[in-house]
Amino acid sequence: MNIYNLTREKLEEYFVNHGSKKFHADQLFSWLYEKRISSVSEVTDIKKEMLEQLSKDFSFSKLELVQVERDVDVCKYLFELSDHEHIEAVLMRHDYGNSVCISSQVGCNMGCRFCESGRRKKVRNLETWEMVTQLLMIEEDLGARVSHVVVMGIGEPFDNYDNLLDFFLIINHPKGLAIGARHITVSTCGIVPKILEFSDFPLQINLAISLHAPTDELRNQIMPINKAYPLKELISALEIYLRKTNRRLTFEYIMLAGINDTEKCAKELVSLVGHLNCYVNLIPYNETNNLEFKRSSTVQLMKFYDILKKNRLNVTIRREFGSKISAACGQLRSKKEEL
Ligand code: SAH
Repeated sequence: MNIYNLTREKLEEYFVNHGSKKFHADQLFSWLYEKRISSVSEVTDIKKEMLEQLSKDFSFSKLELVQVERDVDVCKYLFELSDHEHIEAVLMRHDYGNSVCISSQVGCNMGCRFCESGRRKKVRNLETWEMVTQLLMIEEDLGARVSHVVVMGIGEPFDNYDNLLDFFLIINHPKGLAIGARHITVSTCGIVPKILEFSDFPLQINLAISLHAPTDELRNQIMPINKAYPLKELISALEIYLRKTNRRLTFEYIMLAGINDTEKCAKELVSLVGHLNCYVNLIPYNETNNLEFKRSSTVQLMKFYDILKKNRLNVTIRREFGSKISAACGQLRSKKEEL
């Protein structure tokens, strides 16, 4: 068991179960997340016997950083896991802070046709510590704080739900990384039962839905998950989510030339989500050598944008980072493993 798997509450439980004091959890959190110790021997305010027990029960190790590609406002990190698998994280410097996109699984089972990461089937879920220490390692490399986190790297976060929630609890905790819930976003391809569960999660984490198509016919072709959870079910789950949380959600919509970028699609999108409290984020597609999809032209993108705008949707176009380096969606790992 790795120590960075434990939420503050689980750590309290651990200390109490070992006949020790609850408040050690706060102390240890501060050693781990403020003082950034690398071994338990650096802890000075917990009894020696308890520390020995801790070092018997837990590993204090982090991920291994094997490669960094750097550009002006973006860095791509490649990590090696103890089973020699690789995952990626991307740091984007915005004027409002440092935002990191992390991975949640090794591989992914969702099989979206346009996605590089999905070419490799899921090998396993990341443990909570493997998500937490992506952030710790990047802060260390950066020498600065990460202020925003998006779970949009490799993997489907809602297919690794329990570890994901512990990850949120740790990074949001004031004694953990203290990243505000509203600065954290999770993106899902639309796993309906988990969206419903998530609507009861107490932290106000932002939810983004990878929509990418306005009809079942089209969505079935590019996102197999739609066969399990078609649009009607997805939208009604989102209505429940919005009612319960009183929040706004984001739809991500990749612009794929000749596939989902027509005027007809724009109008269908308006009828599908126009009644919801949402943003639509239009995403220029990152072309990859391995897949045949092409990005929409700027003219087509703007036409699409205008139709949504005219119909009073809140619509934004995603700023592009890292197309010079291999920062796009699973490309660095593919290159490393020559897939
Ligand atoms: N599985 C989750 C999160 C990881 S994918 C999800 O589906 O939301 C993060 C986002 O990147 C998704 O919206 C995904 O559809 C998008 N994406 C995948 N490949 C892409 C590419 N080549 N260019 C642009 N966006 C891409």
